[in-house]
Amino acid sequence: MVKTPIYMDNNATTRCDPRVVEAMLPFFTEHFGNAASRNHSFGWFAEEAVDTAREQIAALIGASSKEIIFTSGATESNNLAIKGVAAMYKKKGNHLITQVTEHKAVIDPCKRLERDGYQVTFLPVDKYGQVSAQQVAEAMTDQTILVTLMAANNEIGTLQPIKEIGKLCKEKGVLFHTDAVQAAGKVPLDVEKMGIDLLSLSAHKIYGPKGQGALYVRRKNPRVRLDPIIDGGGHERGMRSGTLAVTNIVGLGMACELCRKEMVEEEKRLLHLREKLRKGILGRLDEVSLNGHPTERLPGNLNLSFAYVEGEGLMMGMKDVAVSSGSACTSASLEPSYVLKALGVGDDLAHSSIRFGLGRFNTEEEVDYVIDHVVEAVSKLREMSPLYEMAKEGVDLKSVQWASH
Ligand SMILES: *Cc1c(COP(=O)(O)O)cnc(C)c1O
Repeated sequence: MVKTPIYMDNNATTRCDPRVVEAMLPFFTEHFGNAASRNHSFGWFAEEAVDTAREQIAALIGASSKEIIFTSGATESNNLAIKGVAAMYKKKGNHLITQVTEHKAVIDPCKRLERDGYQVTFLPVDKYGQVSAQQVAEAMTDQTILVTLMAANNEIGTLQPIKEIGKLCKEKGVLFHTDAVQAAGKVPLDVEKMGIDLLSLSAHKIYGPKGQGALYVRRKNPRVRLDPIIDGGGHERGMRSGTLAVTNIVGLGMACELCRKEMVEEEKRLLHLREKLRKGILGRLDEVSLNGHPTERLPGNLNLSFAYVEGEGLMMGMKDVAVSSGSACTSASLEPSYVLKALGVGDDLAHSSIRFGLGRFNTEEEVDYVIDHVVEAVSKLREMSPLYEMAKEGVDLKSVQWASH
């Protein structure tokens, strides 16, 4: 018997790895020093732990430890990268490039900059959710100061061609930021090989604590400068003031270390579970479509649309399985996901979508259980659906004249 409820929403957040918790615990009580206290051993010990964490984080992305700035989460990292570059380089230009399926933590700072007089290009995506280096090249002007594109999408798992776009940005001398919250620790990332100048990370998406983020800021070729958002004390090379959350930082460091060491195995295992889930569902239900790229996607992410079924209704029908319909961040409203709309998925199929997010603690047995429950719930809902019945009888629903229109 599997233990319920089953958590399969790992793109929204993850459970802390027990090894992360274990590393953090002594820093609540015994080692509680302020990393900025320079004159006693409590402070030195805390600073040492923070330095170790910086190294662990840097190692995951091919950076050097001096290039890691601690923040309260990836929302802050994205804000600092985007607004910080915009303010610092405004004499050089006022144009930024991003794309339409970014997380709101990128879209909203970009919209704020638009209101403040900057120009922002929101590139469209193809049906898989990808942009091309060519599109980015065509959007560049002599005013372009920043390109910001996510490494992997949080709803559909699609990976962007980060390496090609990084190379282009290097050639053109434009700074390149990537929101790598979903990709980091799941697929290989290397800021040198990929030409990345700024990179956002969040601990709670990689089995670490909530409320801890980091921003990688390149120190040479070129040296990136940022106008801070938070002033006060000059911590983190003046880019982000405030007492460091040593406990959380230790947790983020350990989370990165575990991902780095176990990524190859974990990627394989998650890919196997995801494909088992996909084949298990598609083998037993018709009219199910995959959202996002078939192969260029996060190993643990599966986003499916179940035609003639409402995603919200489906989730009610399998209450002991925690998944998301649409985006976790927009599911409070009943707007169809803007990410799915951007791929050209119609409103009906967008409302029918479910995101399965597999993670480190999901098991083979849980996948079996979820397959059975999805199939059962979808079948039940479709039995009650006159539209599904009509479609099965061969009625072309598009040609039907509905009385109330
Ligand atoms: C979760 C997420 C964020 C926000 O990170 P927080 O640390 O929760 O602020 C930003 N971007 C993406 C792609 C995410 O998945």
